[in-house]
Amino acid sequence: MTPAAYIDRHAAGLVQRLQRLVGVSTINPPGENYDLITAALAHDLTALGLKTKRYPIPSRLLKQSLPPAQHGFPRYNVLGKLAVPGAKKTIHFNAHYDVVPVSGTWRHGSPFSGAVERGWLYGRGTADMKGSIASLLTALEALQATGVAPKMNVEVSFTADEETDSALGTGWLVEHAPIRPDYAVVMEGGEGPAVCCGHNGVVWLEVTVHGKAAHGSMPERGINALEKMAALVLGLEAHKKELALRKFKTPEGKIMVPTINVGGVFGCGEGAKINTVPATATFTIDRRVLAIENHLAAEKELRVALAVAANKIPGCRITVAKISENFSCYTAPTHPFFAAMAATVANVRRAPAVFNVSTGFNDMHFFAAHRKIPTLGYGPGGIDYHGVDERASVKELVASAKIYAELMTSFSG
Ligand SMILES: [Zn+2]
Repeated sequence: MTPAAYIDRHAAGLVQRLQRLVGVSTINPPGENYDLITAALAHDLTALGLKTKRYPIPSRLLKQSLPPAQHGFPRYNVLGKLAVPGAKKTIHFNAHYDVVPVSGTWRHGSPFSGAVERGWLYGRGTADMKGSIASLLTALEALQATGVAPKMNVEVSFTADEETDSALGTGWLVEHAPIRPDYAVVMEGGEGPAVCCGHNGVVWLEVTVHGKAAHGSMPERGINALEKMAALVLGLEAHKKELALRKFKTPEGKIMVPTINVGGVFGCGEGAKINTVPATATFTIDRRVLAIENHLAAEKELRVALAVAANKIPGCRITVAKISENFSCYTAPTHPFFAAMAATVANVRRAPAVFNVSTGFNDMHFFAAHRKIPTLGYGPGGIDYHGVDERASVKELVASAKIYAELMTSFSG
């Protein structure tokens, strides 16, 4: 029997696998049940013949990196390795196992039900991205059961905290774990016919405008931080226009431009009162960095634009703090690795593949930009990521399992 035929026959097992994973609510923040799920994943990888180790994040590092409310929630990453005799190269498959918090009313009651209806499996994490984990484990099971060896050594990592900043997840893995990948598949970012070859990055800043408080009846004695902030926000228009001219054409022909969203969060400082001249005002900036832009240059450019705009406003004093960031990445899909994946996707799905660049970000950049290896994103995906009734298509779960199996058995690097 071929691995693909095995996967078709064991679709029910794939569904059950995903239901088990979805049933463990690994909500982040704060990072619940990581111990439970990583123990189960390590057990599964071991049973599939991989030499597996679970890496707990040292508590000192955990306390340095996470807010106090999360110090009671340990972090783990799982790494499994399959050494293939004679193989020269190593392919690394990565997925995060954490999920975003839940809210709202779900069609099947619990957001962790794993209920299947009309070919869709419902639950938090089905699309993002426990479905990918279930598909990969089923692919490995198919290879083991049919006795078909991969053509490369295989590494598998299941990591924490992608839904926050990945610092203790894939960020930790690429720095500290004994991995030696030549190629990486981060199992999200591309789905269906689309193979992801890069993603946008993001810089999140918070700008504080410092004014001077005064009694509301004598506003001329103060410096109104809100008025300065309003002028500053308008002053950023010039930079926005500059960015709008910067265009990136993706391999599938889509035009992407860098963007700025101002004031996703904004407000007054302490001591705000209707009869007081506001002494401080703050607003956030969400700068989306193109896959091909230089991240540090983008941040610097934004900080300069802020300083220039503030300088033009009399009495406008600002401080700028970075809240968070995520690096972008892009690999031109010219390497044979991408051709092999495109051929595999086309073969399994019986339709041509395309290369996309994701507007959101994921953990691909840790492999592509940091480890500098050809990296692609592909998984079963789904609908309503991060929303109510998140779900994954059973058909796509099966197709992804076949694609992973075929990639491992057709491409030798
Ligand atoms: Zn994800």
